[in-house]
Amino acid sequence: MFSRVINNIFKRESTEKVSVEVKGKSEKKSKPTPSRIGELGEYKINIQLDRLPKNSKYLSDVLIENSKAKSGYSQIDHVVFTPYAIFVVETKNYSGIIYGDRSRTKWSVNGKFPMMNPFNQNYGHIQAIKGVLVIHDETQFISMVSFTKRCTFKVNDELRKIQSNDLIVYDTELSEYITRKINVLKLQNSKPIYSTNELQSLYNTIESANILDLHIRDKHVELLNEKDKETIKDENSLSICKTCGKVVSEKVKRYCLANKSCFKGDIYCCDHQRLLKHG
Ligand SMILES: [Zn+2]
Repeated sequence: MFSRVINNIFKRESTEKVSVEVKGKSEKKSKPTPSRIGELGEYKINIQLDRLPKNSKYLSDVLIENSKAKSGYSQIDHVVFTPYAIFVVETKNYSGIIYGDRSRTKWSVNGKFPMMNPFNQNYGHIQAIKGVLVIHDETQFISMVSFTKRCTFKVNDELRKIQSNDLIVYDTELSEYITRKINVLKLQNSKPIYSTNELQSLYNTIESANILDLHIRDKHVELLNEKDKETIKDENSLSICKTCGKVVSEKVKRYCLANKSCFKGDIYCCDHQRLLKHG
């Protein structure tokens, strides 16, 4: 999900009554118009992020330099800082059956459209974050990949078990999984790994590393969309219908992109192309 909206939201600290700066939060809370599946997905995730435990903080849509990434940057949907672990969340808006095996590089949607293993992708994101943070030895990174309820998981059972550090979840259960994972970590660690101040400092570090420059951000998205650069494209993998999230073939994608006057550079499935042309 490549939102241009920069969320910059501090979670309220239970202990101190600080005035919190909330940018773009009020409009996110207003009723969503489900005209764009991406926006709706984002709305649902934001509801989830608002339900996180009080002593956690998060950043959304983080773009940081990463020399190991083909584009030179990594874009991370959500980073959740908690006293016991840092959760790195990748969101996917696909609809369909997700076939995947943790140990395989290629996954698929509906057994038809290949996608990169999202946990391998998120591993790269975690490495990028580690590169920016001065990392505490005991830091636990929990890799989470969130799909919409329009998906069915056919993946290793392991990825659904709270003991795992790689978790696949539905967007509607994101906060529940994070809370449950923290509870498990509380049992495993006698005390929190990070104090409130340390957590704030980690948050600040990523916040300052986050590239807000829209030119760089646009360029990054452009690079990911260039169809000939296979290795880069892999990071972003599949193209989906802007309206319903259905995965479309390269041919359908090219058709939409070639018809700018009709589809304005967006991608639609055949059904929604018809609606746009005739409706
Ligand atoms: Zn569609």
